[in-house]
Amino acid sequence: MAVIIEKEQCVGCSACVSACPFGAIVMEDDKAVVTDTCTVCGACVDVCAVTAITRPAAGEPAVDTSEYKGVWVYIEQFQGKVRSVGLELLGQGRIVADAMGQELAAVLIGDDVAPLAKDLFASGADKVYLIEGVEYKHYSTDAYTIAITDLIHTYKPAVILMGATNDGRDLGPRIACRVGTGLTADCTNLGIDEESGLVAWTRPAFGGNIMATILCPNHRPQMGTVRPNVFKRPEPDMSRSGELIRVASKVKAADIRTKLIEILSLADTASCNLEEAEFIVAGGRGMGKPENFALIEELAAILGGAVGASRAAVDAGWKPAIHQVGQTGKTVAPKVYIACGISGAIQHLAGMSTSDIIIAINKDADAPIFKSADFGIVGDVLEVLPILIEEIKKLKQ
Ligand code: FAD
Repeated sequence: MAVIIEKEQCVGCSACVSACPFGAIVMEDDKAVVTDTCTVCGACVDVCAVTAITRPAAGEPAVDTSEYKGVWVYIEQFQGKVRSVGLELLGQGRIVADAMGQELAAVLIGDDVAPLAKDLFASGADKVYLIEGVEYKHYSTDAYTIAITDLIHTYKPAVILMGATNDGRDLGPRIACRVGTGLTADCTNLGIDEESGLVAWTRPAFGGNIMATILCPNHRPQMGTVRPNVFKRPEPDMSRSGELIRVASKVKAADIRTKLIEILSLADTASCNLEEAEFIVAGGRGMGKPENFALIEELAAILGGAVGASRAAVDAGWKPAIHQVGQTGKTVAPKVYIACGISGAIQHLAGMSTSDIIIAINKDADAPIFKSADFGIVGDVLEVLPILIEEIKKLKQ
């Protein structure tokens, strides 16, 4: 996508060159020429005294969409380990790519991460674009944005999936802006729109009161971030292989404006690490008061798990929002989810119903949570939890 420059009208004043924040306009033979890095931000349109520059008309494809092919998944890695969300997205990316009749590629960036490529092929990738270098040892917004933006300009993918993680939420919108496309953030589902063949991105809108399905018809790539744990990881098939494409790094040390000082250990925040926890003990309004969350925390610590909370408990100020599970909180998929004093509202279930085993403790035998639970205990959480904690302690001895 790019602005349109009428050569005959251009007087070669080069005002647009200085005005472009992306360096996307150059002078050739005293005429302004737009390059691939144009994002149609309009800064040049505003400064052109002879109105030689216009934007493409709204509603029309801003690029030749037939040039863009393939589904890409950005693979997040931390300290040389692939984060689960990348593999989950390869599983769903495979389905989307097959439905589009196109290839699935993984984008892997880091320092000395090539050995991870085999796991990406095993999880469904046909190709892996690999960018390695010390400048990518730790995630940095600048280095990773430049690397992926360059890849997109070179290889022109039709679709890019990223995890709605801290890094993905930082990186996705920045890249989308650089390449002049849209991004559907924080999706809770995705598929293919039968009529148009476009990716149908679903996400909560208007504060979670409706689920909106969003299409990106006129810009490429179609981009979205997807929450971890929305899709199951595919079973790896280690007999699969694919094409490894090494891409040279274009990032220079001066491009990176941040300096990593320290990495704080996740061990300190294990109780908040809901998305990767195998056990979650969650409390709701039925816990009665914030002090009673000590029981939830104790049980979670014994199980080596994380602490969750319903929105009612978060709104009451009993737990910080980082612990909220549900439609407007985190989507989790632990092996065991223990819901304590939580009624089972649809918005809460939206964030935890894919847990392998759900155990509910509630004093109301008719509470909706029991319909979703694999095991239920009808009783007062303040009586049941201490017994449960004691019994599990005995088992652990
Ligand atoms: P309640 O519904 O009040 O349930 C408390 C339960 O505790 C009851 O079932 C009661 O029987 C039981 N109980 C009480 N005392 C005891 C006891 N001593 N022992 C055992 N059981 C006891 N909610 C979320 O959780 N996450 C979200 O992300 C979320 N997003 C939302 C988005 C929107 C747009 C809207 C409108 C709502 C959202 N909600 C969300 C709120 C949701 O609708 C519910 O209001 C909320 O989940 C209720 O929390 P709760 O189950 O803790 O409280």
